[in-house]
Amino acid sequence: MSVPALEVNELDTFARVVIGNEHVPSDYAPVVNPARNQEIVGHYALGTADHVERAVQTAHEAASAWGALGADGRAVLMSAAVPKLRSDVDGRARLLTREQGKVLWESLTDVGGPPAILEYFLGLAPEFGAPVATEDERGRIVTMRRPMGVTAVIVPWNYPVYLAFQHIVPALLAGNPVIVKPSEYAPLALTATVEILAQALPPGVLNVVPGSGAEVGTALTRHRLVRKVLFTGSTATGRRILHAGADTVKSVTLELGGNDPAIVLEDAKFTDDRISEMVRAVYTCAGQVCFNVKRIYVHESRIKEFTDSFAAAVDDIVVGNGLDERSTIGPLNNGPQFERVQGLLNEATADGGTVRTLGRKLSEESWLEGYFLLPSIVTGLPDAHNLVTCEQFGPVVPIVPFRTEEEALKLANDSEFGLAASVWSDDVDHAMSVAAQIEAGSVFINVHRMGASDMTMPFGGIKQSGLGRTHGMIALEECSDVQVIAHRANTDRFPGPARSAAKS
Ligand code: NDP
Repeated sequence: MSVPALEVNELDTFARVVIGNEHVPSDYAPVVNPARNQEIVGHYALGTADHVERAVQTAHEAASAWGALGADGRAVLMSAAVPKLRSDVDGRARLLTREQGKVLWESLTDVGGPPAILEYFLGLAPEFGAPVATEDERGRIVTMRRPMGVTAVIVPWNYPVYLAFQHIVPALLAGNPVIVKPSEYAPLALTATVEILAQALPPGVLNVVPGSGAEVGTALTRHRLVRKVLFTGSTATGRRILHAGADTVKSVTLELGGNDPAIVLEDAKFTDDRISEMVRAVYTCAGQVCFNVKRIYVHESRIKEFTDSFAAAVDDIVVGNGLDERSTIGPLNNGPQFERVQGLLNEATADGGTVRTLGRKLSEESWLEGYFLLPSIVTGLPDAHNLVTCEQFGPVVPIVPFRTEEEALKLANDSEFGLAASVWSDDVDHAMSVAAQIEAGSVFINVHRMGASDMTMPFGGIKQSGLGRTHGMIALEECSDVQVIAHRANTDRFPGPARSAAKS
């Protein structure tokens, strides 16, 4: 289906191909509401390799003028978008809940992220990339940062707006033109938000190519003129991106999957507040956050007490349409993810685990209209069971006992993932020392959720959870190359063949 160009105020139902601040014709596919599968929320463009070629050429043409503005000049243009990004956050958040499924306050956090991200990074502009010059009898050396070139930002469906902007903003501020590839499962609110920023910038500096399957992502990550890829998504796709970028030796930053452990030490008090914090750590966004807790290790002497308190709190969760303020969590985002989590629960039951299904349905009548799943906890599984070792990405968590802290650390670290982790204890000093032994990019004490890692804290995974970091000055550095310009006054002592006597 081809859709004629729409006015800007109608963008909320179409995620279009946007190149050079113009809408480019394409075919479209529907975006379905995960809470009401019969409801089409909007349409997203089925971008193609040809769209990618055009977007890359346009971005490449915009690169030198954008780079020449300098960080301060770019910051002035970008800051003009801040008030516009603050307007109608509610409308775009409602759209996001309808396409993504999560409850409205989470969508407000997601869509409310870009202006805050912009203000944070714009505050770093004066100290970013200023040339550092030294001059002495050896000569003059200037070390500086320069833009990398056309940058692809590829993002998933769980926190699409925030996750995209945490890449887009440092990439732009560092002087790179950007092409955004939203997820086919949540492209609408993101594309509408990107367009607001794009319209404040010169044409070609910020572009969007939505798409389905891997066509757009593959074309971007193989293209010779795409110098940088900022990716958030699964470890499996991260590997494909590394392979795709190898031929052109691309710089990649990968924010990948996790299987975050929470270690509950023997001394931890199970107050209502702490248990509520743990429930948030597991079930926010119906478990679909990269650094939600995915497995809980509890000292064996406290496991019954913990499991009972935790189960009682999980039982308060209400599952329903995210637009209804009575819902604590919404549905899973899409059919494949829904089936995957159900498969993991069936496998756990078949393998002798005890699955406790908790919480309640907001509406019995509309339950089968969406990808709704009640929250559950699973006990009695061996340490190496698939549900313990994989990234389940759903409202289910295994609880596993440990005898000693050494054993807890071994279990936590026996994973190819290393995104985040947490230690729960009333002895914060001791918890900090346990935390330092966990192989993860971020380790939290008595908390484990979005907000615990703010923009000032470099965020990213180790092992197969990622490469590189977002947030902080390091994010700007990851989007720029170091260049040294050297004038050497005296080259006599440098290695190299001596001038022949005959010529001298
Ligand atoms: P995917 O890896 O399936 O998809 C992410 C994005 O990559 C989508 O836009 C997708 O496009 C695109 N893509 C798919 N194939 C390719 C390819 N071959 N080359 C380039 N791009 C491609 O992840 P999900 O969307 O399912 O998101 C869930 C995952 O994201 C989880 O593993 C989660 O842990 C991780 N994540 C990590 C975070 C972190 O900060 N570390 C934060 C949030 C999530 P399309 O939609 O068209 O398939």
